[in-house]
Amino acid sequence: MQQLQQPFQLERHNLSVSGSVGIVLSSLGYENAADILRDVDVAMYQAKRLGRSSYVLLTNEMRARALDRIELEGDLQQGIAQQEFDLDYQPIIHLTTGKIVGFEALLRWHSPKRGLVSPSQFVPLAEETGLIDILDRWALQMACRQLDTWQQQFGEQFQVDMNVNLSAARLHRSNLLEQVECICDQIAGARSALKLEITESCLLENNSSALAMLESLNRAGIRLCIDDFGTGYSSLSRLHSFPVHTLKIDRAFVARLDHSRSGNKLVEAIVAMSRALGLEIVAEGIETIDQLRTLQNLGCELVQGFLFSPPLSATEATELLAQQYVLGLPTPVNLNRN
Ligand code: C2E
Ligand code: MG
Ligand code: MG
Repeated sequence: MQQLQQPFQLERHNLSVSGSVGIVLSSLGYENAADILRDVDVAMYQAKRLGRSSYVLLTNEMRARALDRIELEGDLQQGIAQQEFDLDYQPIIHLTTGKIVGFEALLRWHSPKRGLVSPSQFVPLAEETGLIDILDRWALQMACRQLDTWQQQFGEQFQVDMNVNLSAARLHRSNLLEQVECICDQIAGARSALKLEITESCLLENNSSALAMLESLNRAGIRLCIDDFGTGYSSLSRLHSFPVHTLKIDRAFVARLDHSRSGNKLVEAIVAMSRALGLEIVAEGIETIDQLRTLQNLGCELVQGFLFSPPLSATEATELLAQQYVLGLPTPVNLNRN
């Protein structure tokens, strides 16, 4: 590394380079070169994360983590090929009317080998590897098909939004708009009911291609929702210039409502800001009656959480809707469910 850092002359410029070094020990008992290169790569990337001119010696723990990841990636690829995915639907409730105004579609991976795998385990890896493109597109398609089925079953009275999560990385795919348009053209009513949930990172500075995509989606009549609001590092000054329709208060804020006055103040401020900007606001992760009462007092009307309902299978969600749309007349669901 010292040798690499020696300044050198390139034409008229004085330059120096730095290196990141990954090291593995042959005492780990390697049998082929490919395995050594794979592991040394892991150590080298770890070194890069430490900053310029670092070296890392691979530990057994790092190696085990890397192998787990490789195995998970293989299983995920296979899971996609074998169609092991499904969607659950969690209701979003309007507190004044008690009606279901929307559902959030949530990916579920039923792996024969691993059991039910949570999206928080596989979505980050899918994002890193690009597999999220296939998964998100599939989720969008399935959710819109479900919407179509409900629209046909419950008729003209049916007015329920469908929230679908979209990885922020997808905003940089030039064909995203085309895919969304294509699905909306196939399924009548999808365009007006669909809401795409994107995490705050899309609001980051210097993210002009993401902004351009959000604007195109907005022009195409698709509403956009900032998910997990308050947990990321969005620039508030940019929020008003983004074509966003809804903010979802992250459940970390809702969880603090029970315990602290400062927690209340934060949510109060988010609600006030949303009002000032003309944004709809949804609180997620409501688990207790106290949280519900506080949110009601703070003027937050749209809620989602285990207090009302966990994410449901399509069949269970259909049963819940049937209660609301019995004989085609919308009737409030029982808020004290669970
Ligand atoms: P999210 O979009 O913020 O979804 C809400 C998560 O909170 C869901 O977890 C839901 O089950 C959970 N939740 C809802 N109510 C409560 C509550 O009262 N208490 C608690 N403790 N949790 C509650 P889930 O289904 O495990 O999903 C985790 C995350 O995975 C999602 O967070 C979303 O970021 C991501 N995800 C899920 N489906 C997709 C998808 O189709 N595409 C992409 N890109 N990401 C997805
Ligand atoms: Mg979401
Ligand atoms: Mg969320």
